[in-house]
Amino acid sequence: MADRIGAIRNRIEQALLSCGRVDEVELMAVSKTHPLQAVLAAVDCGQLLFGENRVQEIQTKFPESRSGYHVHLIGHLQSNKVRKAVGLVDSIDSVDSLKLVRLINAEALKLEKRIPILLEWNTSGETAKSGFTDEREFFTVLDEAPLLRGVEIRGLMTIGPLTDNETMVRSAFAKLRNLARTCSERYPELSFDTLSMGMSQDFLWAIEEGSTMVRIGTAIFGGREYR
Ligand SMILES: *Cc1c(COP(=O)(O)O)cnc(C)c1O
Repeated sequence: MADRIGAIRNRIEQALLSCGRVDEVELMAVSKTHPLQAVLAAVDCGQLLFGENRVQEIQTKFPESRSGYHVHLIGHLQSNKVRKAVGLVDSIDSVDSLKLVRLINAEALKLEKRIPILLEWNTSGETAKSGFTDEREFFTVLDEAPLLRGVEIRGLMTIGPLTDNETMVRSAFAKLRNLARTCSERYPELSFDTLSMGMSQDFLWAIEEGSTMVRIGTAIFGGREYR
């Protein structure tokens, strides 16, 4: 485990150097389908940020109070699970509709908390993927942001297209980077600091295209077993 995490961290550093970036990239370990023991082994190696894609799995896997590490939801969130999710996770990184933003805001206010969120874009055009595709709906969220005291919009997230065609993958990531820049220009009061993009297969390209958070599952925990 320590070897794998160390190797990923080295490759992240190399990618940053190779494109002359002087900022940092956060490493999220995606622990879906893997047991709590695997998460705790990673925590022992200094890995403190984890991603999970199902509310039910988070609820059954993790103890009620976690100390020292954070868990973000990175999978599609259904309306009927919003209340549970808001109580369970440190951030919701896969928010993909105006309706969902409003629901999360309402539930967070009930719990008297302010939850960080990322807005997910479908940059690949693949219809099976979730994420905003409509700019009007997306910008309505940002227009409403000052009124939504229960959520803190921290940035954008995307899943790259499922292909090893470098040009296609990079252009999807570049699209997200450009959109983030537009957002910061149009909404200077927002603290847009997170660009979550890049997984085991494409994180080096993502870093070269400006990613500030990579989500790595397989390259840390090995293959997943779905039951
Ligand atoms: C599973 C998952 C990942 C990690 O994928 P790997 O290819 O195993 O690194 C990243 N992001 C999201 C949204 C996921 O669902």
